Amino acid sequence: MTFPERICSCGEPVWFQEQPIEEWPADSPQSMWQFTEQLPVSKPSGLLSQIGGTPLYAAPNLSEEYGLSIFIKLESLNPSGSFKDRGSATGIRYGVNEGKDVGTVSHGNMAISMATLAAETSINCTVLVPSDIPPDRLSHISQFAPTILKVEGSYADLYAESFKIGATHNVLFVNSDTPLRVAGQKTLALELLAELRPTVPDAICLPVSSGGNTSAIWKAIRELHAGGLLPHKPKLLLVQASACDPIATAYQQGKETITPTTANDTIAYSIANPNPPSGTRALAAVDDTNGAVCSVSDSAITNAQQTLRENGLSVEPASATVIAGLAKFKTAGKISREDTIALVLTGTGLRTPINTQQEIPTLAIDSIAERL
Ligand SMILES: *Cc1c(COP(=O)(O)O)cnc(C)c1O
Repeated sequence: MTFPERICSCGEPVWFQEQPIEEWPADSPQSMWQFTEQLPVSKPSGLLSQIGGTPLYAAPNLSEEYGLSIFIKLESLNPSGSFKDRGSATGIRYGVNEGKDVGTVSHGNMAISMATLAAETSINCTVLVPSDIPPDRLSHISQFAPTILKVEGSYADLYAESFKIGATHNVLFVNSDTPLRVAGQKTLALELLAELRPTVPDAICLPVSSGGNTSAIWKAIRELHAGGLLPHKPKLLLVQASACDPIATAYQQGKETITPTTANDTIAYSIANPNPPSGTRALAAVDDTNGAVCSVSDSAITNAQQTLRENGLSVEPASATVIAGLAKFKTAGKISREDTIALVLTGTGLRTPINTQQEIPTLAIDSIAERL
C-alpha cells in the first residue's frame, strides 16, 4: 500500500487487506507482538516490543453493582498511558523500516504516545498541536523532545493538511484512523478475545471519537469471525460525551453517515472530535455487530470516574464514559442481566489534574495514634 493513500474513492478510510485469522496464539498474549503475523510490520526491539499485553480481569464489585459479568481491559497500563501506543508502535516501526520520520496531529494521548515511543528510535517525530492546547498537556508531550508545531486551524484542517505535507516531506503521519494505526490497535481486541476464551463476550464497550479504535476492534472481530474463531460477533457499544456526539446523533437518527457537529466544552476532551474521520465506519461497525451508540453528560462522567476510583481505577474522563454508558445501554435493551461485557479503559487518569482534593489537616507526631 502506498501512503498516504488512506481514503478510497468512496471517501472512506482504507484498511490493510482483511486476513481471516484461523488460529489463536498458543500462549496468553505478553505483548501486541504475539499477533505479529496479523500485523503489516515485523516485531521491533526495545520499548516498542513491550506495547500491549495489558491486563484483562473480572471486576467483581462492578459486576455486582450492574448485574452484569464485567471484565476490564486496562489499556491505561501501556507505557504512555493509553491504547494509542499500539497504533503508534506499528506506525513508528513502519517508519523506522522505511527510513521515514513520523508525525501526528493531536493535543492529547496520540501526541504523547507518538513522542514517547519515537524517543528511543532513530527517527524524528513531529507533532502538530492546536494553538489552544493546555500547558499541562503540552509539557507532557514536550518531555520527549519531539518537533512540536503549534498551528492555527481546526483538527479536521490539520488532519487533511498533515497528509499533504507528509507526502512531500517524507513524514509518515500516523493520525487517528490511518491504516497503520488501525492495524496496531486491532491487537487490543485480539488480546481481549483470546484471553476470554472460551467465553465470547456479549459486548465490548468503548469510548469513540475519531472512530479509529472502533474501526480497529471491528476489523479484529471480522477477521476472527471469518477464520471461524468466533461463533458470534460481540456487540460494539460506543459512548460519546453529550457535548460533542456526532456519532451518537447519527445513530439515534437511524443515519448511515455522520454530519459534523460543533465541539462544545466537555471534560472528556480526548473524545471531542466534532468531525470524526471514521465516524461513518463506526456506524457500520455498530450495525454489523447489532451494537449501539449513546452519549453521556459530564456529570454522569464525573460520577463514573468516582465509581471507578472506588474500584482502584484512575482513568481520564473519556475512559470513564463506558461506566456511564452501561445504564443507558441497559435501558435501551442492548444488554441484559448476566451478559458478559468487556469495558475498555482507554487512558490513565493519573496524568489529569483532579479537582476533588479534600482538606487534610496536619497532625502533630504524637497524635497519629489517636487517628488510626
Ligand atoms: C483517542 C482516545 C479515545 C478515542 O479513540 P478514537 O480512535 O479517536 O475513536 C478514547 N479514549 C482515550 C483515552 C483516547 O486517548
